[in-house]
Amino acid sequence: MKAPLQTRLAAEIVSRRDALIRLTQDLIRIPTLNPPGRNYLEICEYLAGQLGKAGFKVNLIRAEGALGDSVAHPRWNLVARHEGAGAGDCVHFNSHHDVVEVGHGWTRDPFGAEVEGDRIYGRGSCDMKGGLAVSIIAAETFIAACPGYRGAIEISATADEESGGFGGVAYLAERGWFAPDRVQHVIIPEPLHKDRICLGHRGVWWAEIETKGRIAHGSMPFLGDCAVRHMGAVLEEMEATLFPLLATKRTAMPVIPDGAKQSTLNINAIHGGAAEQAEDYTGLPAPCVPDRCRITIDRRYLIEEDLAEVKGEITAMLDRVKTQRPSFDYEIRDLFEVRPTMTEKDAPIVRTTAVAIEKVLGRTAGYVVSPGTYDQKHIDRIGRLKNCIAYGPGVLDLAHQPDEWIGITDMEDSAKVMALVLAELLAP
Ligand SMILES: [Zn+2]
Repeated sequence: MKAPLQTRLAAEIVSRRDALIRLTQDLIRIPTLNPPGRNYLEICEYLAGQLGKAGFKVNLIRAEGALGDSVAHPRWNLVARHEGAGAGDCVHFNSHHDVVEVGHGWTRDPFGAEVEGDRIYGRGSCDMKGGLAVSIIAAETFIAACPGYRGAIEISATADEESGGFGGVAYLAERGWFAPDRVQHVIIPEPLHKDRICLGHRGVWWAEIETKGRIAHGSMPFLGDCAVRHMGAVLEEMEATLFPLLATKRTAMPVIPDGAKQSTLNINAIHGGAAEQAEDYTGLPAPCVPDRCRITIDRRYLIEEDLAEVKGEITAMLDRVKTQRPSFDYEIRDLFEVRPTMTEKDAPIVRTTAVAIEKVLGRTAGYVVSPGTYDQKHIDRIGRLKNCIAYGPGVLDLAHQPDEWIGITDMEDSAKVMALVLAELLAP
């Protein structure tokens, strides 16, 4: 008698452990740094070779004209599709292939992909080349074990997630690659841990606030109007009224970590007065009253909040400052916004993945929502596809850190879960 499909898939994945490690290492060793967007074509061509051998039809798509795309740094994406033996749903695994800068503090070669014990080290190992490799091994394993499956499997590796995804998933979604009649289920293997399902993310609003003053000689500041002092009043008002207000807003979304279950605001940057001098300048600054001061704010908002209200809170706060300071004047500019998104818990991909986690790991799946956004926003808003989650191996806290690593056993377990999801959705 043939063993049950789940058992065969699990055994097959264990036997492909070396292939999984090698694939992850190969991906880490292609330094796809973003910015500026290096080696995107190289990694897509590497994946095209791997997936072509496995019987996938491969498309390489350059996001020509998208934000960030240039002749020096073209934004290349890969979408590979494997057709089953009959009609059925398409399950799509989407990973970003870009990684963030290395930063300081590494004790290993960031692109060496060293294996030590149960870990593979390197920039992008956890976020998210490990997850990409896992989805490929899971798909290859399922196809080999179940060649008569119904529907289709797609794997994509996309650019620029770390810088907004406009040359990646957004570009593809605008061109119909995630349209609901083409793709029915999406898993994004971001590092949320092998036993958790990430349903979505909070919203984002970035804006620049500028206070205005009048330049004058620094020895006679009374002849000018200091924009930095005006900004000081804005910051004081924020501390007194805005931060306490944000702390009272709590979401029912299962956001992790706990501190992100409330509305948050970060001041990303502040600048006022004379421009900072070049590092080789050895002179003193000139005495002037600053006539401009700017801050950039990063407001993360909840699914229960309305973006117009979120913006209204800031303008109301600035208007309160104005009533206290007769010469106060400001401007506010929108930089970027993303609406919150959350897939329903009873969506097919959520239910199927929860069942697979329980069968493979013997424990119930946890449900989380990400504090920051990822490419699900484009699949939801542009692609109009709601049946989408993030699920993949790795410890989220290690993303963007020195000595980033991914656990090999965690990758193996996630591959078993993903292969079983394919079996549940596509096996005849
Ligand atoms: Zn990521």
